Amino acid sequence: MPLPIPGSLTPTKVTTFRECAFAFRLAVIEKVPQPSNIWTMRGSIAHRVLDRLYYDVPKGQRYENVAREIFESVYQSYITQEPFSSLIEPMTKESINTYKESIWTMVAADFYMEDPNKVEVIGTEIMLETEIDGVKLRGIIDRLDLNDDGSLTVVDYKTGRMPSAIKEQEKLMGVHFYAYLCESVLGSRPRSVQLLYLKEKTTIESHPTERSTRALKIKAGAIWKAVVYACENDDFRPRPSHLCGYCHYSLICPANNLYTERENARPSAAGTHLTH
Ligand code: SF4
Repeated sequence: MPLPIPGSLTPTKVTTFRECAFAFRLAVIEKVPQPSNIWTMRGSIAHRVLDRLYYDVPKGQRYENVAREIFESVYQSYITQEPFSSLIEPMTKESINTYKESIWTMVAADFYMEDPNKVEVIGTEIMLETEIDGVKLRGIIDRLDLNDDGSLTVVDYKTGRMPSAIKEQEKLMGVHFYAYLCESVLGSRPRSVQLLYLKEKTTIESHPTERSTRALKIKAGAIWKAVVYACENDDFRPRPSHLCGYCHYSLICPANNLYTERENARPSAAGTHLTH
């Protein structure tokens, strides 16, 4: 039976569909809730603190002690609310402290990677929406900066691990997605898009061009066609990979463990050597 076609594409939906169509079906079509865990909450808290630091505090007053005060207040507000309060309840006092400091370390990393007092912020958490050939594209930009020459820079905070070289190409598709949204809605192609990997204190920077925008349009169109085909034919196949270990749906996925079994069945390098 055909499934309903989603109303829009976002960078997250594109990544999910490319990584595992079955996970896409559960998350986007069936809207099966994804339970929070302390690691996703860590990202939310770090994002919230940086959002407040750049939006609420004027340029020239954004110092580390100010960020720490914001961090303490944001952390306190999370601790009194669900689901965070239940998530940390079983943890020991010591592990809560370690966990809390790991969030602060990510926030403090921003001061190492850039000078917040030199940043002219246009806005934070900006929702942008546009269309390519009838396909609605949507995205939330963490921060939009105005450069000295009047050009724009899109900043996206990353609290997970940095991608491998192959994955980096996929992440860059997200970058060009944001660039296209910006160009289409605000009428100006950003001079650069920066992915700030707070854990590794590393910035991946890309400079969008007319060519990269054209490539994004072609890729987005192809992914949309694949999504429509999958919906019309109810064809969302699971794609077991190392990502199953992090997947919210592993307990209800029919393919759960297939990747582990396949990997375990594969002869080890030593085993291969012995047979020769
Ligand atoms: S457990 Fe693996 S195969 Fe199943 S939905 Fe998640 S990522 Fe896909």
